Amino acid sequence: MKDLNIISDQTATMPDQPYQARHFIDGKIIDSADGRTSDRISPSHGVLASQAALGTAKETEAAISAARRAFDDGRWSQLSGKDRATVLNKVADLIEANEERLAVLETLESGKPISQSRGECGGAADLWRYAASLARTSHGESHNALGNDILGVVVKEPIGVVSIITPWNFPFWILSQKLPFALAAGCTCVVKPSEVTPSTTAMLAEMLVEAGLPAGVCNIVLGYGDPVGSLMTSHADVDMVSFTGSTAVGKAITKTSGDTLKKVALELGGKNPQVIFPDANLEDAADAVTFGVYFNVGQCCNSSSRIIVHEDIADDFVARVVELSRKVAFGNPMHTDTQVGAIVTADHREKIDNYVATAKDAGAEVCLGGGPLSVPGLGDQFYQPTVVCGVTPDMAIAREEVFGPVLSVLTFRTLDEAISLANDAEYGLSAGIWSENVHTCLEFGRRVQAGTVWTNTWMDGFPEMTFGGVKQSGQGREIGSYGYDEFLEVKSLVMRIGRTREPWVRDS
Ligand code: NDP
Repeated sequence: MKDLNIISDQTATMPDQPYQARHFIDGKIIDSADGRTSDRISPSHGVLASQAALGTAKETEAAISAARRAFDDGRWSQLSGKDRATVLNKVADLIEANEERLAVLETLESGKPISQSRGECGGAADLWRYAASLARTSHGESHNALGNDILGVVVKEPIGVVSIITPWNFPFWILSQKLPFALAAGCTCVVKPSEVTPSTTAMLAEMLVEAGLPAGVCNIVLGYGDPVGSLMTSHADVDMVSFTGSTAVGKAITKTSGDTLKKVALELGGKNPQVIFPDANLEDAADAVTFGVYFNVGQCCNSSSRIIVHEDIADDFVARVVELSRKVAFGNPMHTDTQVGAIVTADHREKIDNYVATAKDAGAEVCLGGGPLSVPGLGDQFYQPTVVCGVTPDMAIAREEVFGPVLSVLTFRTLDEAISLANDAEYGLSAGIWSENVHTCLEFGRRVQAGTVWTNTWMDGFPEMTFGGVKQSGQGREIGSYGYDEFLEVKSLVMRIGRTREPWVRDS
């Protein structure tokens, strides 16, 4: 631990008061009817970061019924794409203007570094602007070759009321991967953030009002998965659920939403491999592996928590990753130089530690780290950068989502073996390949089971590039035009031109 790069002091300013997060229902920012709240203690600083209204079935019902009314009377769905885009672009401007306020709360509640929070909160404005562009440019299709007397038009219409449920690892970013796209499509929404990180979602309400979003179009209910989230996924007035979180809850949601046959879009976990060939640029690959595993303390669905390295270079490559790991700045997330912050909760830190201990018991070797990390002045809600070698495909650490700064190392000899190891997982979110050989890269890209494949890079993302998983990593897509289309129904209009239709019933 003494060889690690640990930052204990801070540069960003702490807020004077804890943030008071409240519901946003039918255009009004309100407390719970019973006045109950929950406290969020910052995992890094141990201070009260926020107090959030604790919603019940009453607030959830009110939010769903406001969204239903707002959808059915067309106050938003019947606006032109141009008018919807104008509001979304104003929200984007307000997000940028409020970047620092959002970022400080995001860091205090989640434990992530302030520089990352600034990038995610401010950067989310681009998702809003991209969604606004789709509101104006998306269109259906026309069929002009069905015969001289027929014109066919396929139109896209908003799906209706959408429940949006988000997790704690990227609270404002994931919200912005969903909400502006649903709004751009003309849907109305009920949003529930994780109870651990409610504030930046609640802060957005003020911006939606200022941007001129009509009342009832977006409603935010704070509270736990049960009762708020579960009612949002079972209620008959909801047409679609868009969820990001654990695979277990995703599976439960497909069941609760099944009774009313809602559309369900799920962005779940991953066990994402990066495969490294000897001909790769190994310096770049080692840097990307280090980034891929420690970014957001590994609490990331896209974390590259396992690498599959060619046997000939495995020892040297791991040594390089270990050396880089020691240089990564862990510690106080309120310092601008910090790259890796705190673990979200004490329970979660225990879970990470158990994975490492179980791997050790099963014969794996911990080459670096492997335990909680204490940051002077802040306590031990941190975890050391950890590299576990000699991992075999049957170990839990090779198969399950650890969601921590823990890298598992496996080795291969042939391309076939590498692909088979990469595909040997219940998940299929993302995968990466490092090689200078274009044939190797293309073959890997075509045969690997994943929603995104990165070649000689890791986690580059763009609003234009759609995102989602195969296998148990989810269903449906987010962002990009495919993500936008998830919030639309298609309807076929078949029109006869002139009085050319032959009667079915003939005069006898
Ligand atoms: P969950 O999947 O439990 O929570 C995600 C969201 O769903 C939260 O807003 C949660 O509310 C809500 N929720 C919980 N239960 C229900 C339900 N029955 N119906 C509707 N909504 C519900 O993730 P956790 O936060 O508990 O994290 C657990 C594990 O999940 C992590 O350790 C990690 O492995 C994985 N995970 C994966 C993510 C990803 O990006 N793929 C993101 C986050 C977690 P609340 O928590 O407020 O009760």
